[in-house]
Amino acid sequence: MTDVFHEARQLQEQLESWYRDLHQIPETGLILPKTAAYVKEVLTGLGLTWQEYPGHSGLTVKIGGRHGGKTVALRADMDALEIQEESGLPFASTNGKMHACGHDTHTSMLLGAAKLLKEHEDELAGTVKLIFQPGEEGPGGAEPMVKDGVIDDVDGIFALHIGNTLGGTGERTVDVTWAETTAADDQVIIEITGLGGHGSTPHKCVDPVVVAAQIINNLQYIVSRETDPFDSVVITIASVEAGRGTFNVIPETATLKGTIRNVAPRTRDHVLDRIREIAQATAKMMNASCTVDFVDGYPALVNDRRMVQSFLDTAARCLGEKEINILPHGETGGEDAAFFFQERPGCYFILVCSAPCPADGQVYGAHHPRFCIDPSVFWKGCGLMAQSAADWLANPTL
Ligand SMILES: [Zn+2]
Ligand SMILES: [Zn+2]
Repeated sequence: MTDVFHEARQLQEQLESWYRDLHQIPETGLILPKTAAYVKEVLTGLGLTWQEYPGHSGLTVKIGGRHGGKTVALRADMDALEIQEESGLPFASTNGKMHACGHDTHTSMLLGAAKLLKEHEDELAGTVKLIFQPGEEGPGGAEPMVKDGVIDDVDGIFALHIGNTLGGTGERTVDVTWAETTAADDQVIIEITGLGGHGSTPHKCVDPVVVAAQIINNLQYIVSRETDPFDSVVITIASVEAGRGTFNVIPETATLKGTIRNVAPRTRDHVLDRIREIAQATAKMMNASCTVDFVDGYPALVNDRRMVQSFLDTAARCLGEKEINILPHGETGGEDAAFFFQERPGCYFILVCSAPCPADGQVYGAHHPRFCIDPSVFWKGCGLMAQSAADWLANPTL
């Protein structure tokens, strides 16, 4: 197989131009009309066709397969966030949304990989399936695409994210883990119903504020006493709503909202079950009642060692070993590519490219209105995607 990695260098200007265009048309959720139209226009120019799906803007493209072989997927997310951009970049978004997680860069780099792979289609020992997905930031685009059967003919998958999101040092080009990479990400809503009344007569009421306080404390018992200290669990109650700003009215209800992160599937089931039991039992003990609902859950993303080994072989050859940082563990952020990785073995890696914001010279993390990236590494990310897919097809590790 030709060295497509180094050919990617010639695409650098093109990659930056696609990125700047996409950066100016951020869209959120599952329906991304402008972004999908842009991607399709570029694909048409590359002589590629795509498959679309009802109900969302995701699309897939197949390249190769002329000699049979396996199928490997390369996945990019395309959606942005409801953030007002403050980056000061000349091509900053002005529509009240922002590519503050770098998905515009992922889309651009996957388009570049499409170009490289199309130019070497005859040499591919199998099929590369490009997955452009919407809704990563919510409500989740990977799960509907799995239900559409997108992953059915796929044997393995690679995906990248830009930034420094796994907690590496930022000194090397690539961060990757052998296994646990991002955490299961579940949101919880606990609605407590008591009995409201005058603040001077609590004995005639059932105070949902006090019940809420007990529930918040009792939930931390799961983390400190019920889970293995080496098995990370986070329970954060981030929102407490009760009362209407008065001093002397015990409200009827209180609502808690929070997020739950963990890595092992068994731990996830245990933690969610226990949140429900402890919240309901605490409310009952205090003569109140409560409902517990979980929304927007993403599973943990766990890399497959065989896919990671294949990726590391490619990356070491392309970049040199000193540019690769193997991290001892992942992080507690969520990533909905986990739905693909749950179905098929894969390798998810980070292309490190944090950059100072021109507005004030500071470096900001993803989801910040001043989040900026260093575009100079685009060709490396694009080349790594294309080369990893081509190498794996030539020597599938499964
Ligand atoms: Zn994000
Ligand atoms: Zn992201």
